[in-house]
Amino acid sequence: MKQVGIVGWRGMVGSVLLQRMVEENDFNHISAHFFSTSSSGKPGPVISGENSILKDAYSIAALAEMDIIITCQGGDYTKLIYSTLLEHGWDGYWIDAASALRMDERACIILDPVNRANIDRAVKEGIKLFVGGNCSITLSLMGLAGLIKADLIEWMSVMTYQSASGAGAKYVRELIAQSAYISRHLSDAELENPGSVLPLVNKVSELINSADMPVENFGAPLMGSIIPWIDSDLGDGNSREEWKGEAETNKILGLRQGTIPVNGLCIRVGVIRCHSAAITLKLKREVSEAEFAERVSHSHPWVNYVPNNKEASISQLTPASISGSLKVGIGRYKKMALNNEPVYSVLTVGDQLLWGAAEPLRRMLNILLNRI
Ligand code: NAP
Repeated sequence: MKQVGIVGWRGMVGSVLLQRMVEENDFNHISAHFFSTSSSGKPGPVISGENSILKDAYSIAALAEMDIIITCQGGDYTKLIYSTLLEHGWDGYWIDAASALRMDERACIILDPVNRANIDRAVKEGIKLFVGGNCSITLSLMGLAGLIKADLIEWMSVMTYQSASGAGAKYVRELIAQSAYISRHLSDAELENPGSVLPLVNKVSELINSADMPVENFGAPLMGSIIPWIDSDLGDGNSREEWKGEAETNKILGLRQGTIPVNGLCIRVGVIRCHSAAITLKLKREVSEAEFAERVSHSHPWVNYVPNNKEASISQLTPASISGSLKVGIGRYKKMALNNEPVYSVLTVGDQLLWGAAEPLRRMLNILLNRI
């Protein structure tokens, strides 16, 4: 059995990864070892009734015993460890959720329902670095796979609505703490007052901006607000998250950079789980809603086409209805009134912890187990 090291298993992505691996019986096919950056020597997760002791995630010797390492620990860890491991002669497979090495020329970005052929080619060519894509891009491409396969997309403008859990465990806790902070300061009488709602709105607005609102991680209130910047400032008007849109889309699809221009804004919203993206698509020709539905629905088993009407949209195309599901919803497809050009709007909604993070990692593990 292959020795598989799992780093970052207690974080947001890692917990979902473990849950999915248990559901799919992945642990039956590997000898798993759990690593920690903070608790080595302490008990690790119990899998199928078996206890484990955590290994030191900074121990190059312990890591070097692994045939395959899956890490959901984050980019700083990857930057610190990966090159050191290679310098020590390790030649195993590294599967990573972090963005640090995605654009590295040794890396293949993994999203097998969309780019399985590229993954197979990479394995055959001896590539040993496989990295999950940016969550928003991954989910948009999962939804749009049918149009991509038919080479129908000329360019995309992607406006994202990204959930708090997309930033990690500490951040989603902070959003919930912000909500709790506001609730704690409201009495039943204030909530139920049949008079003007303005005093309630004013009080909540004051609470949102109060010095006691917990904002340590996000740096700004998210409850009752949005944060219009994700990841670092590139200094050219773009956030790094926005830059990833075009760079990763083209790399995932195996296209020369710039072949499909992608631009947009990435926004953090007070959603617990699931990223949404409102996409403006310039297509290469007119595509009716019927053809669109047919193409996206038949591209792979994990897409759910939602007809563009109010009832279906508010019941099937929301983070609340999609959280925890492997189905990526795609809907609100309509032609935009722009000089009769084939420009369309569409909304994708998907669980960023599943297809946007953990699922491609565990599937890559299984691809490798079948190939090496
Ligand atoms: P995270 O929740 O912050 O977890 C990362 C690590 O932080 C954990 O493995 C844990 O390491 C440590 N940690 C410290 N305090 C913690 C706490 N209170 N609860 C849980 N863990 C805590 O990060 P993540 O969201 O899983 O992201 C991991 C990587 O995946 C990042 O590079 C991220 O960019 C990428 N990614 C995330 C998402 C997403 O939706 N979150 C999607 C795609 C990609 P120790 O156990 O070693 O202490």
